[in-house]
Amino acid sequence: QSPGSSQPSQPRLSKQELQSYKNADFPWSKEVQDKLGAMFKLSKFRPLQLQAINLSMSGKDLFLVMPTGRGKSLCYQLPAVCSKGFTLVITPLVSLMEDQLMYLESVGVPSVCLNASSTKEHARSVLAGMIDKDSPFKLLYVTPEKVAKSKQLMAKLEKAYNLGLLARFAVDEVHCCSQWGHDFRPDYKLLGILKRQFPKVPLLGLTATATSSVVKDCQKMLCVPDTTTLTAPFNRPNLYYEVRYKDPLNEDSVSQIASLIKSRYKDQSGIVYVLSQKDAESVSTELQKNGISAQPYHANLEPSYKSRVHKQWTNKKIQVVVATVAFGMGIDKADVRFVIHHTISKSIENYYQESGRAGRDDKPADCIVFYGYQDIFRIATMVVMDHTGQQKMHNMVAYCQSVDKCRRSTIAVHFDEVWDDEDCNQMCDICRQGNDYITVDITKHAREVLQIVNLAGSLDEKVTPLKVSETWLGKGPAKRRQMIRVTTLSRVEAEAVIVHLLLLGYLCEDYSFTPYTTYCYLKPGRKAVLLKSESHSVTMKMKRAIPGGQDSPVEPGDVTSADSVTLLDVNDRLDKTDKNHQNQARKERE
Ligand code: ADP
Ligand code: MG
Ligand code: ZN
Repeated sequence: QSPGSSQPSQPRLSKQELQSYKNADFPWSKEVQDKLGAMFKLSKFRPLQLQAINLSMSGKDLFLVMPTGRGKSLCYQLPAVCSKGFTLVITPLVSLMEDQLMYLESVGVPSVCLNASSTKEHARSVLAGMIDKDSPFKLLYVTPEKVAKSKQLMAKLEKAYNLGLLARFAVDEVHCCSQWGHDFRPDYKLLGILKRQFPKVPLLGLTATATSSVVKDCQKMLCVPDTTTLTAPFNRPNLYYEVRYKDPLNEDSVSQIASLIKSRYKDQSGIVYVLSQKDAESVSTELQKNGISAQPYHANLEPSYKSRVHKQWTNKKIQVVVATVAFGMGIDKADVRFVIHHTISKSIENYYQESGRAGRDDKPADCIVFYGYQDIFRIATMVVMDHTGQQKMHNMVAYCQSVDKCRRSTIAVHFDEVWDDEDCNQMCDICRQGNDYITVDITKHAREVLQIVNLAGSLDEKVTPLKVSETWLGKGPAKRRQMIRVTTLSRVEAEAVIVHLLLLGYLCEDYSFTPYTTYCYLKPGRKAVLLKSESHSVTMKMKRAIPGGQDSPVEPGDVTSADSVTLLDVNDRLDKTDKNHQNQARKERE
């Protein structure tokens, strides 16, 4: 086979054919079963493992989508020890590589790795081992950079291929190939070279989370289009999903989190996810002040500190890790009883992944996200450069904002799964509370909010989301003297309406960039013009009583009868420029 020659992709397997790979009557079945016990010290396979192993042993390309901690690694490690030659494993992080090598050493499977910190001698011996017929190692772990950039490695792979010693490719965290995924890594894009150069070597892609479109994208990148994909059900029945509103007057919310940890999760391990490194430090300090043993974790800390925190947390010397998303891959603590998000995630996929670190032992665990108005816009500024970032973030906001949909159903829709709310088993706050919501007409509110935003626009000013809500609530600074309809809604409700208008497209984000930071404002969205028509109406589902809100429950009457008009401050400039407004203001005052 000459390098670069393409081979038609493997035909898709029918359901029946796929089924047949669950059997144990293959030529390798006995060896596979024996080594499962003798080497890996495991008594039986978990769901999908044997099927995946048989498919890979038959030379099929395969994608395996399975939640973290369910045992994806075995699906290439066991085939590796039952095959001639070695398996090339691509892993994004050196720490993951080291964990795996340590584990493999403990079970007696010879394995090596090549990464940026490998010494010359080590690299030389690894490269020599690749073309050694006696295969001194069964697994070779490399970073994607190595594959993309090391000519030496490629040359040796070529030789090994020709000698029949290149048994298999395993691409771990395969979702990193796709820009549409939650963790794109540019070097993964170059891995298509593997199947282009070595078309006969079966490839196994592994990930814990990927929507079907991300899977397709990754398969295209890796030159195995439409390959067989085994997907474990996304649903984690033991996880309880809940959304809590942040105290709107103190979006900090750490005290809410602290009291939760001290009461509901006393002596239990958990993670608090935060948005920034600074938040990791401050929230952790705040929790410590509340007597909780917590430590921060983020990318900017010393590796030795990070591994110490990880160890202490694993051994229950520390109760809580307050972490950015840097605390993720490679964590397989089974007894995490809670994952609290101090700030919403950037996307549902991220949220599923992060919250999914709870309850790996299949015992009940909680996933709670604290949802705050201003956080939405903090995240908006962070995802602004990502062309799908804003939509993904809106989906996450919709998850939090929803008052009528089972949380699991929102996640299921995201992963293109068929879902029946019964399957939630009351394991989310919405299913547990029942249908405690009303549909209200918010057309009038929408017009009021748009009035505020339009007014700013007419003055060539930008308004922050906070300014919009404050002004609408009549709580803005007294600089402006202007007639604006101040709402009778509570702050929680008012903010919910503004967010709803954003999600529907009546409002949209507007950004301004400085060399140091990005600011997010609100401006009229594409649907704003519709509100000019008298007959247009907008509705919204609202909770009857908002937990955590200090305000009285919403009654339909309250919501639709915001006719109180309050006198607001008017800007001097406005006095000069907008006579009409002034006149109208005077009229209404009289
Ligand atoms: P993943 O890559 O899917 O996150 P790992 O491969 O790291 O998961 O495996 C997670 C844990 O599950 C490991 O401790 C592993 O030993 C264990 N495991 C894997 N397969 C089995 C099995 N068939 N029975 C029991 N434990 C298993
Ligand atoms: Mg893994
Ligand atoms: Zn539910």
